[in-house]
Amino acid sequence: MSEKAQIKSAKFWLLLFVIMASLAYMGYFLITEEIQRDRQQLVEQLDQEFSLLTNLSTGLLQSGDYEGVQSVFDEWVVNYPDVIEINLTSSNGFSIAKATRSGRTLDRQSVEARIKYGYRGNARLLLVKDTSWIYGNLTQNILFTSFIWLLIGIWGSYLIRNLVRQKRNNIQLKKMSEELKEANSKLITEKTLLNSLIDNIPDLISFKDCDGVYMGCNRAFRDFAACEQKQTSGKTDFDFFDDDLAQAFVTNDKLMMQSKQSRRNEEWVTYPDGKEVLLDTLKTPYYDERGNVLGLIGVSRDITELKEYQNQLEDMAYHDMLTHLPNRRYLIERMKVSISQCERENCRLAICNIDLDGFQEINDRYGHEIGDRILTEFANRLSNASRSGDTVARWGGDEFTLLFTNLHNADESIELVERVQHLLDVPLNIENDTFNLQASIGLTIYPDDNSDADTLLRHADQAMYEAKLSGKSHYRFFDPEQNQRIHSHHERRLEINEAINNQQLILFYQPQVHLRQGAPYGVEALVRWNHPQKGILPPGEFLPYIHDHEISIGLDWWVLTEAVSQLSDWLAQGRFFHLSVNISALTFKQSDFVSKLSALMSSFTNVSAEMISLELLESTALGDLDKVATKMKECQSMGFQFSLDDFGTSYSSLTYLSRLPSNVLKIDQSFVRDMLVDEGDANIVEGIIRLAAAFNRMVIAEGVEEIMHGVKLIEMGCTYAQGYAIAKPMPASSLDEWMVHFKAPEEWLKLPKPQLSVLDGHNHSA
Ligand code: C2E
Ligand code: CA
Ligand code: CA
Repeated sequence: MSEKAQIKSAKFWLLLFVIMASLAYMGYFLITEEIQRDRQQLVEQLDQEFSLLTNLSTGLLQSGDYEGVQSVFDEWVVNYPDVIEINLTSSNGFSIAKATRSGRTLDRQSVEARIKYGYRGNARLLLVKDTSWIYGNLTQNILFTSFIWLLIGIWGSYLIRNLVRQKRNNIQLKKMSEELKEANSKLITEKTLLNSLIDNIPDLISFKDCDGVYMGCNRAFRDFAACEQKQTSGKTDFDFFDDDLAQAFVTNDKLMMQSKQSRRNEEWVTYPDGKEVLLDTLKTPYYDERGNVLGLIGVSRDITELKEYQNQLEDMAYHDMLTHLPNRRYLIERMKVSISQCERENCRLAICNIDLDGFQEINDRYGHEIGDRILTEFANRLSNASRSGDTVARWGGDEFTLLFTNLHNADESIELVERVQHLLDVPLNIENDTFNLQASIGLTIYPDDNSDADTLLRHADQAMYEAKLSGKSHYRFFDPEQNQRIHSHHERRLEINEAINNQQLILFYQPQVHLRQGAPYGVEALVRWNHPQKGILPPGEFLPYIHDHEISIGLDWWVLTEAVSQLSDWLAQGRFFHLSVNISALTFKQSDFVSKLSALMSSFTNVSAEMISLELLESTALGDLDKVATKMKECQSMGFQFSLDDFGTSYSSLTYLSRLPSNVLKIDQSFVRDMLVDEGDANIVEGIIRLAAAFNRMVIAEGVEEIMHGVKLIEMGCTYAQGYAIAKPMPASSLDEWMVHFKAPEEWLKLPKPQLSVLDGHNHSA
């Protein structure tokens, strides 16, 4: 029933109630009026009857006519139908006369007797009259009226209560309906908002019921499924994915709903247009208010690009970009894993550091592009040669590390290293050039060397360094016991610096002679460390630690100063040797080199620059050749000469020869040493001698250990030489004695002058 109709019916019932109540009141009023009237009449009638009867019976009694009284009573009872009983009793309770209407049932409850007592002398008269008709009607009326009133009252109050309740309900209903309306509109707004929100989310959002039937989804999901809004609802995973994937989803979904747990998965799926994407999907059960699972909400994010990016990043973080080999960080991780594995399986690990010899020179000569291709090719070879489980890593320029796992004895690693060396035997052919690579290899074995990953790498590096020092193409094992005795690289450097400051360095001088004349020509100053405990150490034992470090600059200046000072002393004593001093590239590259050199010379006035040759070491590391050439010319203008040391060992030797204004080429001792047995080396030596002639350079052969070396060199046209066959490096104090005793071998002196004319004296320049 509508609210209006309810109010109408309530109004109607209220009106009816008022009318009925008025009628009832009027009825009641009339009835009570009549009752009052009847009662009045009855009382008057009774009073009359009673006085009549009293008079009558009094007379009769006085006359002693008891029987008369009795007959009057009988008559009365007969004639007055409403008289029930007449009773006259004496004062002591004896009945004098009594008449009773028999056959009439007197109900004390319904009959109210009006009793009047009259006193005459010592007798008492009682007249009982049936007044039930009056009182019966009255009672009935009162009961009826009360009942009606009661009914009306109950009904009325019920009505009123209902009315009030209804009114209240109506107000509440109205309020509720308004609230509902408001909530509804809010809900619609929110739903629209939510829909547009989830539609604008690029992630795929969908929800299914417990049977895996899709209930809804957002635009991204529709795009993915190539479906219209309505088409997705009612479908299952089998409509969108291939059967295997769909079945996997269904199984997983069930598990999730049973366990009431969310789950995150990454899965590859294919779009209808064939595009494959990697989705990161989070599925969560959703519930009704009692906590029963209603289905699953799925949110999937396309992480294909992210994953690629992540992979790239990981790749960048863990791999060397050029060769795609693991980098140092990755290597350390692998080493840690392998170390634990070794501990479990009681086997050994070999950490093998490989450094390509002379790679810098290839870079300088052929450019970085070729250099990179060589590194890549070498990396490929290493990878192909490694066993499964081994790791090949590159960590910096031409440094590689091989991690051999699962070795049962240290000897196995030797086989593996030799295998690596064989890889290098096959020359690399890149763009019509052939490259013969060589490498120095340093190894350490775990757990013989029971150190952590970082330290193992450092030890392998140390061993590699030693391999380099002992000549190219060697390998060395790290000796853990020795390592405990020797200090770290850093401490070593500090020690050397101390040694320079504490005057522990000394200079040896190695004579250089004119081969055919057998006459001393000059000396090369060679540094030694007069170690307080270890005695005299050759430069090979300490220079590598300060290589390319500023300490080496200090050392070079100490040597220069000391050597020039020695020359000054010799000159003062009337002796003369041409002096050669070694200068490292780092020192020569210093911007104040020329000014410092001229300052030095000005402190030794008896020494002229013409008496001194500067031997440029590691010419490959000199950098910008034009700048170097300019600087060399500045020094030459002061009178100094320049030698290119170890000539022939570098790929760039020819470049340096043509572009740098050197005066002297020093043929490296490695060619000289083997020239008698190795035709190739002999050709190189001869080639250098011819080049020197062509370029108008003086040439000094180093490493002349045998007389035959000298013979051959003279035959080839070389004029000057230095080597153990002539003299070993010696302290300045020993030079005098050597001079006295030195005699060039007869074999040299008797040889005729060769046809090839190589410069014979000083001041040769480009
Ligand atoms: P380097 O400049 O090529 O010096 C020649 C080296 O060959 C010297 O070794 C010398 O002792 C050695 N030698 C000479 N004749 C023979 C021979 O017949 N047979 C053999 N096997 N070796 C011979 P040392 O003195 O050990 O010097 C090694 C290197 O240390 C030098 O090579 C040079 O590069 C560097 N060096 C030495 N003294 C100095 C210095 O005062 N300053 C700098 N910067 N470097 C130095
Ligand atoms: Ca030298
Ligand atoms: Ca040399």
